[in-house]
Amino acid sequence: MNETIVTKFGGSSLASSEQFQKVKNIIMSNKNRRYVVPSAPGRRNSKDYKITDLLYLCNAHVNSGIAFDDVFKLIEDRYKGIVVDLGLDFDISTPLNKVKEDIANGASSDYAASRGEYLNGLILAEYLGFEFIDAAEVIVFDEGGNFNHELTKKAISTRLKDTKCAVIPGFYGADTNGEIVTFSRGGSDVTGSLVASGVDAKLYENWTDVSGFLMADPRIVNNPKTIKEITYKELRELSYMGASVLHEEAIFPVKEANIPIRIKNTNRPEDEGTLIVSDVHDLSTLGTITGIAGKKNFSVIAIEKALMNSELGFCRKILSILEMYGVSFENMPSGIDTVSLVIEDSQLKGKGEKIVEEIKKQCNPDFIEIHPHMAVIATVGKGMASAPGIAAKLFNALSKEDINIKMIDQGSSEMNILVGINTDDFEKAVNLIYNAFNN
Ligand code: ADP
Ligand code: ASP
Ligand code: MG
Repeated sequence: MNETIVTKFGGSSLASSEQFQKVKNIIMSNKNRRYVVPSAPGRRNSKDYKITDLLYLCNAHVNSGIAFDDVFKLIEDRYKGIVVDLGLDFDISTPLNKVKEDIANGASSDYAASRGEYLNGLILAEYLGFEFIDAAEVIVFDEGGNFNHELTKKAISTRLKDTKCAVIPGFYGADTNGEIVTFSRGGSDVTGSLVASGVDAKLYENWTDVSGFLMADPRIVNNPKTIKEITYKELRELSYMGASVLHEEAIFPVKEANIPIRIKNTNRPEDEGTLIVSDVHDLSTLGTITGIAGKKNFSVIAIEKALMNSELGFCRKILSILEMYGVSFENMPSGIDTVSLVIEDSQLKGKGEKIVEEIKKQCNPDFIEIHPHMAVIATVGKGMASAPGIAAKLFNALSKEDINIKMIDQGSSEMNILVGINTDDFEKAVNLIYNAFNN
């Protein structure tokens, strides 16, 4: 039986030589931890920089014709410091100089950003005594920059078949011309998931700076409970709605192969963390929620028209207007005579009034209004399905404190209730919902 564990370590887990030591202890304590996916060094404290951000900055400086030596020096110092503090006899200067030269010569922003993981991977492989495998060899994008899952899976399983232990940097791959392409931010989680799927691992461990997936963002709710077990579906809803612990696209490769993910804390390896699986059999979840997440910066366009439901093509007209303006929407809850469009502000950018005018012209609604400055909160849980009283508890908790709910939507899976509220009420509302289900 394949006992292989793929481990991914996030930026804060590899931000300094002390963190590298913790990572080595974790890997060496279990011989099945054979394949390691590192992120670039993250912040050591709240005032620190992420190496990835500095690399993007270097690239932006070059594009604007500004010298980037001072910024690059911060990058150099960080990597050199780690090598010296770990007592490694390893030449990191040569790859660093090459990266600097490539950036100066106008390398792409994806290339620049990817070097954070690349350089960290070189150091980690040396420190662990593992083989270094460049992600450009095994993570495959096509010419248009689209990720190719099939080719990647094949490349990983072929390349790792006879490799006992290896470090494969996260976040990037290469297209068929050899050009570096990155995933979106936080994408090392995706690489870890792809490696786990490529080697058909028994487990994908995602090591970070919190002891698992918490019921709510710990920056909003004080000391939220850890979720012991969660399904891929619930996790995807929560990640999509802003619970940034795990990149939302990291779910698909392991879900398909039925490989569980465990979220663990590098600073507290003894904590159990969270297990993400395809199904949770724990009956005690019935009638309870699993977690809460949310995002700010939305607008809602609320539309009313008597007998809307019997007017053929009403919603189609609205959607074609959005399409005409190149705007995609997040949700579209509807009632008998009402429909709301929930749209991210970044999508709407200056087009809101024009869209409203066009809807008035084409659809002749009784009432139409834009509510700007909204936040959307998702309350998620597979135990919510067909359990009466959950929605009432949620709305009561908010209305008791005079929080005005401007939009409600329950996903068809009955696993997710979305509420739209004023952005200023966001933190308070998340706390109220959390407390309603935890007291
Ligand atoms: P890494 O660098 O290890 O990939 P991230 O910063 O991407 O780590 O993700 C971990 C962070 O996610 C935590 O430090 C925490 O602030 C934040 N976070 C947001 N929502 C949640 C949640 N529901 N549970 C745990 N952490 C959360
Ligand atoms: N280093 C990249 C980022 O900061 C990728 C990652 O950390 O997963 O987004
Ligand atoms: Mg992350």
